[in-house]
Amino acid sequence: MSSTLPRNRRSYPSEVAEVVAARFDTLVVGAGFAGAVMAERLASECGQRVLLIDEREHIAGAAYDYVDEHGVLTHAYGPHIFHTQSLRVVDYLSRFTDWRPYEHRVIANLGDQLMPIPINRTTVNMFFGLDLNTDAEVEALFAEKAEPVAQPRTSEELVVSRVGRELYEAFFRGYSRKQWLRDPSELHRSVCGRVAIRTNTDDRYFSDWHQKMPADGYTAMFERILEHPGIEVRTGVAFDDVRSQVSYGHLVYTGRIDGYFEYEFGSLPYRSVRLDLRNQPTPGGSLVQPAGTINFLSEDVPWTRVTEYRHLTGQVHDSSTLAVEYPRSEGDPHYPIPCDATRALYKRYEAHAAELADVTFVGRLARYQYLDMDQVVGQALSAAARLVKDGRLRVAAGRRGRSAQPSPPMCSNSAIAPKRPR
Ligand code: UDP
Repeated sequence: MSSTLPRNRRSYPSEVAEVVAARFDTLVVGAGFAGAVMAERLASECGQRVLLIDEREHIAGAAYDYVDEHGVLTHAYGPHIFHTQSLRVVDYLSRFTDWRPYEHRVIANLGDQLMPIPINRTTVNMFFGLDLNTDAEVEALFAEKAEPVAQPRTSEELVVSRVGRELYEAFFRGYSRKQWLRDPSELHRSVCGRVAIRTNTDDRYFSDWHQKMPADGYTAMFERILEHPGIEVRTGVAFDDVRSQVSYGHLVYTGRIDGYFEYEFGSLPYRSVRLDLRNQPTPGGSLVQPAGTINFLSEDVPWTRVTEYRHLTGQVHDSSTLAVEYPRSEGDPHYPIPCDATRALYKRYEAHAAELADVTFVGRLARYQYLDMDQVVGQALSAAARLVKDGRLRVAAGRRGRSAQPSPPMCSNSAIAPKRPR
């Protein structure tokens, strides 16, 4: 039993002889969201010839998905759930994909009990053994438990000042310490601030008006983004392999910024994840977990969460693949660590980067920001528009495309998209 699966993935050449001889307007390093969107914008809006390389053997960066040996559509680098508030980002990506509605739900495993996270009225009633029925009652309970902090700076201060220490310790402290190898008192408030805290009974993980997954998966969407005659793609090719051999005018760099500067000021720390993929039979197409993800809050459990991909993708199949995430320091850089020390170090690299007029740094690794996919797309759209506006792109004569008079999507995208009602 299986629903229709995305067609087989395209394979891209890793042979560089041909591109070494050619001349490109822009070299884009990294075929994740930042690089792919930049390449597409520069090729379609400016008529540029773009070479896009990635040291991985595939496109789509950490969003890469594939059909595993059991026939299940799997996210190779851990669960990627698309959600956004940005109409501009939805409009842009909708040129390359249809969408499948999916509202993510997460259940927290507290050892002996399962409760919904984000903390909401149901969570509060289960946790404290209460029967609160209104937002006002929950708000009053939070007010009673909260330890006021005038301007919360850390993740601990943010949560404790909103809901008090008991809920903070149960839902945030242990999980965050595992994930970051740091106490939330050392992490910027934006880290735990990603997770909503509600007084109603809404148990969805995200609150955004757009909660939909690319209908054929991420890799298929990336293939369409890169399907432009002006874009040459090479996978399995590192920047250092071609850096001195390819001829290009502008460089878009989406890898880690400290790596670009050869760690001149020291390494920026990242957290990584080891994925343990498990497949199990689900006769009749049933699902293993009651929700897409189960978060394991105890510090004594070495993994942070388990995600069942078929919840996310909607695929019907007679087996199911689950990803168990073990946070670690070694491995691919997945998460920049938002805290004061890393910010100060990043700022030194950022100042260095600002001196390079012919290099644009975009994305989670190049800007050392804990960004979601939609935020990376928005950042890339803005960066491409800015390059055009500032006249920083050199385009060979005769291939000027529309760069002289950029079309509306390129120029109007700095406007913040209005919020849409659900
Ligand atoms: N977090 C937590 N408990 C949870 C879920 C999240 O303490 O049950 C904290 C933790 O520090 C985590 C952060 O909130 O790293 C952001 O969570 P999110 O689910 O957004 O992480 P991501 O999906 O980016 O790994």
